[in-house]
Amino acid sequence: MSFSNDLLTWYDKNARQLPWRSFPSPYRVWVSEIMLQQTRVETVLPYFERFLVRFPDLESLASASQEEVLRVWEGLGYYSRARNLHKAARVILLEHEGRIPSTAPELERLPGIGHYTAAAIASIAFGEPVEAVDGNVKRIYSRILALQEALGSTRFEKTIEDYAQSVLPPDRPGDFNQALMDLGSSVCLPRQPLCLACPVRDHCLAFKQGVQNDLPLRVKKAPIPHYDVCVSIIQVDGKVLLSQREQSGMLAGLWEFPGGKCEQRDKSLEDCLKREVLEKTGLEVSTGEKIGIFEHAYTHFKITVHAWYAQPFSPVPIKLPEHLRWVSCLELPILPMGKVARLISNQIYDIP
Ligand code: SF4
Repeated sequence: MSFSNDLLTWYDKNARQLPWRSFPSPYRVWVSEIMLQQTRVETVLPYFERFLVRFPDLESLASASQEEVLRVWEGLGYYSRARNLHKAARVILLEHEGRIPSTAPELERLPGIGHYTAAAIASIAFGEPVEAVDGNVKRIYSRILALQEALGSTRFEKTIEDYAQSVLPPDRPGDFNQALMDLGSSVCLPRQPLCLACPVRDHCLAFKQGVQNDLPLRVKKAPIPHYDVCVSIIQVDGKVLLSQREQSGMLAGLWEFPGGKCEQRDKSLEDCLKREVLEKTGLEVSTGEKIGIFEHAYTHFKITVHAWYAQPFSPVPIKLPEHLRWVSCLELPILPMGKVARLISNQIYDIP
């Protein structure tokens, strides 16, 4: 039997039961594929259910505010996905009469949909015969071929692309792409692949040569940088000061406690806090009780966040710039925040 036949036979018996597979409408497939970018299925499941309850269709998503969408997305991370999903819903409503485009090239023109996601949606929701090749699929194919080229090199990418095209069955492209996703997450694992349980073992050169644990070949990565960040919980008249991040870049549009990254010129963490708060809000503060230390890892760097209560000793201006807002305890849960800001927010029980 061919590689694709063996894989599909296995998939027919072992496919994971997932909510977007039970009712694979284009809208549900699209939302699931955006959520699955850089995120494991197990993590996505509760967010998918919650999102679909609040935004059951394209119209409800397009008519929501960005803040609402971010709030429902909160905790899933990579917030540009939520903003782009929201933008794309509006584009589809205005420019495609509310119908999600059915081909990969059209899908790729929408905000937040790259080459892989377009192929996944087009093949799963519309049966277009296009191969969806992400990091998991590259790992599988590099092992099948026992590819001795470094991941990311031109020759590696070209070989994988050619192979992916050659094995895609035109009659079941969506199932085939999903079968590869399942194989990558449950059998052909990054470390210690479960070769003895693998449905395509007979096609796998790496297994035959005993080199599956060494593939794909990787060039050594530079160490991930780490930053200390200091933030302040400034309370006045029962309200706490929040700052909204810019509308582009990391965590765009989310709310956080004023502060920022330590610099070499800061003699201590407290100095960093005072300087950052002054630069970001115009307020001079003294530090009070420390709330805690929070560690968080993003894709390209890690942070340690130090959080203090802080008291302004310069007069607080009545009119604040647009990115600053005094917020009551009741409003805190409503505003969208990143993971660390939410952890800190959950610890503020006691606003006088
Ligand atoms: S035999 Fe092993 S290395 Fe080869 S595809 Fe299967 S799980 Fe991956």
